[in-house]
Order: sequence, then structure tokens, then C-alpha cells
Amino acid sequence: MGLADLDQQQLDALAAGTTQAYAELQERGLSLDLTRGKPSAAQLDLSDELLTLPGAGRSRAADGTDVRNYGGQKGLPEIRAIFAELLGVEVDQLLAGDNSSLSLMHDTISWAVLHGVPGGDGPWFGRGVKFICPVPGYDRHFSILSSLGIEMVPVALGEHGPDVAEIAALVAADESIKGIWVVPTYANPTGAVYDEATTRALLEMPAAPDFRVFWDNAYALHHLTDTEHPPLDVLGLAEQAGHPDRVLVFASTSKISYAGAGVSFLASSPANLTWYLDHAAKRSIGPDKLNHLRHALWFRDADGVRRVMRRHRELLEPKFALVRAELERRLGGLGIASWTEPEGGYFVSLDVPDGTASRVVALARAAGIALTPAGASFPGGHDPRDRNIRIAPSFPPEAELAVAMEGLTTCVLLAALEQQGVVEV
Ligand code: PMP
Repeated sequence: MGLADLDQQQLDALAAGTTQAYAELQERGLSLDLTRGKPSAAQLDLSDELLTLPGAGRSRAADGTDVRNYGGQKGLPEIRAIFAELLGVEVDQLLAGDNSSLSLMHDTISWAVLHGVPGGDGPWFGRGVKFICPVPGYDRHFSILSSLGIEMVPVALGEHGPDVAEIAALVAADESIKGIWVVPTYANPTGAVYDEATTRALLEMPAAPDFRVFWDNAYALHHLTDTEHPPLDVLGLAEQAGHPDRVLVFASTSKISYAGAGVSFLASSPANLTWYLDHAAKRSIGPDKLNHLRHALWFRDADGVRRVMRRHRELLEPKFALVRAELERRLGGLGIASWTEPEGGYFVSLDVPDGTASRVVALARAAGIALTPAGASFPGGHDPRDRNIRIAPSFPPEAELAVAMEGLTTCVLLAALEQQGVVEV
């Protein structure tokens, strides 16, 4: 029975039970953290062999390159070959970088602001450049833009991507819109997977020649079910659409090997790669090829990566199942919350009654459960409906996750009852 269907007596009973549960929660003196999508220690342990690779006396790549020295701006061919296969791009179109794809995104946007991109008519600086930001989205994408003074135009993200007709109309009306963030597979935080029709439409729509799709495939290989969504050939589709330079593809092994000591990747058209390499050469004399080598030795081939990803899934799947079960058990059927059931990635997106997300997060914090700030998945940290909460189940052990989820659902209920005036604030 939904909350709205309860009579006063039932509401009072629920209010008393929830208030009591919250008081007990506070008494437990918890210190739990559901804030960020970090791999757990058990997941990091899967890659322990990396700590001993390549090993003394093993510093040559397959082509004889001494990986200890400067150079090799495109990254080691063997690691590029493995990930080209996995990401569905040509090896020639894929570069391997240092430990963070977010840095590659920051670099490319900074260089676009300072220097402009191929096909454009100069730097983006001082032109009131704007980006389309599907929401809810990844907070660090939005932070890059706000730090560079780029205005964000939110559009709603559906299950298979945003409404491209809406985006095309915005872009047609305003040529200062130069980019869009896309997390195509198991989006952060909703788990949305862009379908081919949406992708084609994004690539075909008329836009400024220096409009770019920042295709952040951070979770390309991070399946949680047997429905493994394969990466779309987005570079091929862009070429077919007559806009070969429109897309910059990003990925990394942050959640395959080590978050913080993995390998990042950038794939794009020849013109964009030449542009990138030209600027990258001013910034560094080459990426960490030693890290490339140890990753290549450890993975061996694309199947080696797929094997590791299955082990990650074994560790993550029960946590996602627990989150889903707890949400269903405590909030199911009450008509006050909805949540995503992602087939991959690192997050569950929870929508609570409009106007209560900040209160839920504050209540949880007061009970020792740290959640990502309400609104974090929106530009400027502002969720206009104050209803979205991102749940990151990967890091805590299952026992802690269970306590945190029970506490979180108590807070959701309490905030909803407060809003209805059944419980006093
Ligand atoms: N993109 C998305 C969508 C993410 O959720 C994250 C965080 N895990 C990153 C990029 C960060 O990637 P990296 O560690 O390669 O910088």
C-alpha cells in the first residue's frame, strides 16, 4: 500500500516506527561511507600481480623500446592493441596515456579553450562557450566545466540517452554550444546505455564544426549481468555521419586494475589525435610506458581483461543485489521513491520525493552515513527538484553496506513523513 493510501492511524504507526528506527540508528555511532565509486580492497587485490611486474631486467617492449626512457607519446603498442579490441576502435586511432582519463578530458577541454580544436575558428576562450550536460551525470565532468567558466545546459538523460531532438534544437539556436558529455555505457549515476539510434542522431545533427562529443566510456567493460552491452563503433558512425572529428573517446583501467595507477585511453579521428599529440608534447615527454608494459604483461590479451572483469562482477554483483533488495524491502510499493537497476557500472540512482534529497543526506550524515551530497549529479550541484541521490555500493564490505542501506531507507522514509507533516522536523 502506498504512503498516500494510509489512514491517519497507519501513518502514525509508521511515523512512530521510523522515528524509533532513526533514533536507534543514531545511537549506533556509525561511520559508513557510500560517497564515491571506488573499488573495494578485494577488487584491488585482484590485480596484485601488477605489483611485481614487469620485474627486474624486463624493461623492453615487444618492439625493443626501453620503457624506462622518455618518448613514445602514443603509448605502448601492446596495451593499445588489447584495448583497441575491447573498445571497438582501430589501434591507430587509440592512444594510451597516464593514470587518469579524467586528466585527458581536462587536457582536451583546456586546450580547446586555449587553442581551439580542428575545424573550429580559434580558441573557445572568451566566447561564452556552453556544454550540453545530460542529467543526472558525473559530478567531476561538471567540475571541469565550471573551473573553466563553461556554462552548462542540462538536458534529461533517459534510459537510452537524452532526447536528441531537444539537443539539436538547442545547438541550432546557439552556436556557442560546443560540446556534450556522454557516458554511453552504464552511465554514472543512472546506468543508462546509449542506443545506436540516439548515438547516430547525435553524430548526424547539424552543429558547429568544433562541436565535440566527449564520449567517456569509463564503464565500457563493467558488466553486472549476462546482458553485456558492447561498445558502439562511435568513431565509425561519426565518419559515416560526415562528422569524423566530432567524437573524443575516453576510457581507463581505473576500475579494471588500480584506481589511481591504471592506464588511460583516448581514441579519435586522425585530425583530433594529431591535435592532441601536438599539445601533449608540450606538456610531457611521453606517458608512463612502464605502467603500460606491466599492464600488457599481466592482461596478456583482451580475454585476460575480460577474465578480470568477470572477477570484479563476482565481487560487485552481490552488493548491487543487496542495494536493490533493501530498497525494495523498505521502500517498495510506498510510492515515494524510485531507483535504477543498472546492468553495469558503479552506481544506483535513487529518486526520493521532490524537495527531500538534501534532508535525506543530512539525516544520514547525522547518523554517521556519508552520502554523495544531494544535487552532486547536476551542474553546480543544484538538482532543481532536490530529489536525486547517488548510491555507490562498491567500496564498503557487504555487512556495512547492508547497515548503510537500512539506515538510508530509514532516512528516506523519515524525510517523506516530515514533508507530509506526520513527523515533526
Ligand atoms: N568517468 C566517469 C564517468 C567516472 O565515473 C569516473 C570515476 N570513476 C572517471 C571518468 C574517472 O576516470 P579516471 O580514473 O580514468 O580518471
